Amino acid sequence: MAEDMTTPLLSDSEGPADALPVCLTSPTVAILGSGDFARSLALRLVASGVRVVVGSRCVNRIPSGLFPDAVELRNQEGAVSQAVCLVFMALFPEHYCSLLGLQSALAGKVLVDVSNAAEMNIHGLSNAERLAELFPNSLVVKGFNTVSTWELQTGAHDGSRQVLICSNSTEGKKKVVQLARQMGFHPVDMGGLSAAREIEVAPLRLLPSWSGPVVVTFLLFLFFYGYGVLLGILLPFLAQGHNAFYRLALDLVNESLPAVALVTLALVYFPGLFAAWLQLWSGTKYRRFPSWLDNWLQRRKQLGLLSFLGAALHGVYSLCLPLRRISLHRIVNTAYKQVKAGTEEPWDELGVWRSELYLSCGVLGLGVLSLLAVTSLPSVGNTLNWREFTFVQSGLGYIALTLSIMHTLFFGWDFAFHIEAYPFYMPPSYLLAVVLPCIVLQNLCRTDHR
Ligand code: NAP
Repeated sequence: MAEDMTTPLLSDSEGPADALPVCLTSPTVAILGSGDFARSLALRLVASGVRVVVGSRCVNRIPSGLFPDAVELRNQEGAVSQAVCLVFMALFPEHYCSLLGLQSALAGKVLVDVSNAAEMNIHGLSNAERLAELFPNSLVVKGFNTVSTWELQTGAHDGSRQVLICSNSTEGKKKVVQLARQMGFHPVDMGGLSAAREIEVAPLRLLPSWSGPVVVTFLLFLFFYGYGVLLGILLPFLAQGHNAFYRLALDLVNESLPAVALVTLALVYFPGLFAAWLQLWSGTKYRRFPSWLDNWLQRRKQLGLLSFLGAALHGVYSLCLPLRRISLHRIVNTAYKQVKAGTEEPWDELGVWRSELYLSCGVLGLGVLSLLAVTSLPSVGNTLNWREFTFVQSGLGYIALTLSIMHTLFFGWDFAFHIEAYPFYMPPSYLLAVVLPCIVLQNLCRTDHR
């Protein structure tokens, strides 16, 4: 890959018309440091038609072939003197002080701080703000730290194309934005240098918008699974010595997944109702929602996708049920007993209807949920206008919720009203799962009716 990257992507003959003048007139950019980031950045810059000079403390230590031939290797002073205006600081912030001798050479130049925070909670100044304090006569711009070396090397084709940028200098920011665009990235202006703190911790965050929904879904799964273990395995074992521990691996998981999917789907629509009640109660729509409700409203997409995951897994698990040894054992045994007794399976018209309706509602519910999941992809959602998006996310969402509730009710059929459905005076888990979705659906109908 290194060889491919040494040739500029935008050549005289192939480049877009408006990109050519920028490439050909690109001023030399310096990179201080010769580590992983410096190497990937140099590759990307050269491939984008930029002249690069790398400044190292010890040029002789850099193995030949590590940087593309087009990159000039100099000592730190030499590199800074070659840079027309942009200098990338591709070293760790604890080493910034070692560059104090270059203060006058760096004066008036744009210093791009690419460093990440060492921990999530930054006490005191950010790395970029400290750099600005050390070099008061330079224009410090924070940027490129959210881009990995992999993204730099693959030319922004894989992974995120966003480059978050902030600075107190409009001029400096403009130059970095222009260079980021030339490299094929999407620069996002985050404002003044005080935003550096946010940008520096951004790469340390692990799916920040997913943690809450994942925890809620996991807790729901634990609840329904634990309830199933207690009701279906532990209590029968303690009361009657009946061993059904084999159900732990597949049966109970498959029993818990639809309950989790259904409650999670209800949790997608519940905060909207709650917000509407709150506005009616306070008599105004101009008051801010409490932050927990705000957060909940913002996580509806993630909750919806997790509900889809639960429903899809339930579908796959259900298809696997006939493959189990226990199913084979039951079918063969029942058939054997009936043959021995000379009887045949009676036709149960109601039972047949129940299973047809139950399966059909389940499949349709999963189908509509899949549509919702697909339209939540930015590339698809962006093609819809607001009316289409609301129709899909609200209209189809209610249909998915209704079908899922019907799927559960057809499964419960009239068994739910028999005393045998309540062993140890505890209701079956599907009845627990259907309570919140029914409340949500009933209130949605009422709101729509008004
Ligand atoms: P690295 O491989 O350890 O390279 C750091 C470079 O700093 C060294 O090669 C060294 O080059 C230079 N340096 C200058 N003064 C130094 C001193 N006094 N002591 C030690 N080294 C000194 O680190 P890196 O992965 O390239 O990361 C560099 C910066 O990029 C960090 O701030 C990091 O947070 C940021 N970053 C890295 C990535 C990544 O994926 N690696 C992604 C985003 C941001 P010379 O010996 O040639 O002077």
